[in-house]
Amino acid sequence: VISLAAEELDVESYVIGGFVRDHLLQRGDPKDIDVVAVGSGIELAKKVSELLPHKPKVQVFKNYGTAMLRAFDMEIEFVGARKESYSEDSRNPIVENGTLQDDQNRRDFTINALALSLNKNNFGELLDPFNGLKDLKSQIIRTPLDPDVTYSDDPLRMLRAIRFAAQLGFRIEKESLKAIRENKDRIKIISKERIVDELNKIMLSEKPSVGFALLHKTKLLKLILPELTALEGIDEIEGQRHKDNFWHTLEVVDNISENTDDLWLRWAALLHDIGKAPTKKFHKKIGWTFHGHEFVGAKMVYKLFKRLRLPLNEKMKFVQKMVLMSSRPIAIVDDNTTDSAVRRLVFDAGDNIEDLMTLCEADITTKNPKRFDRYHN
Ligand code: ATP
Repeated sequence: VISLAAEELDVESYVIGGFVRDHLLQRGDPKDIDVVAVGSGIELAKKVSELLPHKPKVQVFKNYGTAMLRAFDMEIEFVGARKESYSEDSRNPIVENGTLQDDQNRRDFTINALALSLNKNNFGELLDPFNGLKDLKSQIIRTPLDPDVTYSDDPLRMLRAIRFAAQLGFRIEKESLKAIRENKDRIKIISKERIVDELNKIMLSEKPSVGFALLHKTKLLKLILPELTALEGIDEIEGQRHKDNFWHTLEVVDNISENTDDLWLRWAALLHDIGKAPTKKFHKKIGWTFHGHEFVGAKMVYKLFKRLRLPLNEKMKFVQKMVLMSSRPIAIVDDNTTDSAVRRLVFDAGDNIEDLMTLCEADITTKNPKRFDRYHN
């Protein structure tokens, strides 16, 4: 249908981006398709709607020159091929009409720049000017143009690179990693909402530690979640050491992610020890302690959510509660007397008790139920 509509309007059209990538990777059910018209994307969308029996409503985003309609259980997004140039202080480019090649040049990664022709003369041909197919096969995230320019133009791409690496299990090419490290400070021009969007996608990937380790390696993590990187390192005094709470945290996040897809439980796992950096002390008699870190941590959760513009609602309270419980093994006497607060929390999260215990590194113990009550009554 798109092909016919484009022919009637005498414009070239192509499917581009995520749909082509995921199709070649045989990855999941596609939810959206991006179509590029060498001409007006909005006109093409309107024509496609005319040709479809159910005449879907075309949503036009005039400011962006794009249009969207729903068909075949998917959102189809139409855009005119464009050429972009950037200024120092904004990730919003100056846009001009362009060719398919211009449009592929503006894409973030070679694997996202692949286009499939919808034109009669070469229908179904893969247009791959940057060897994206090869990168798909060798599982590499690489930018079409100079990585330094790509990341500096739109620093959100730094997080997208890491997010795709985490979601797809790909590695980021060396030059790209270097460019991300060098441009990391430009993350400041990205809105909190965008940052959180990408963080959540990393958090919901199969093994979140992959993404967080990359954020750490590129030094972006310190700019986004300094509370977390403050946990890194092992101190030794008089031969006594404590564990590295940063890497330990990533292990806990992976553990819980094997048991639950609940985003907020995963956030709770990520933040469960953040109070430990400001409360760390060494006592001659008892060694390293983090006394009261769970209370400090719960307060830090509030500040962190506020700073990242995450919603200060029940989800945040849930994460706070989980952080409050994170210090000691939770005393659970036995199945009959499991504390009702735990049951409630688990119920709220829509998850089962095993998930909760993994998160809290709980020991099932009959010894000291009072320990748990201290935090909850
Ligand atoms: P997913 O839907 O899994 O997030 P996607 O690749 O479809 O993957 P979108 O954010 O929907 O991601 O973007 C669609 C396409 O638009 C991308 O494949 C890429 O070609 C391009 N794109 C998106 N964001 C950027 C960006 N910041 N810089 C350059 N190109 C981008």
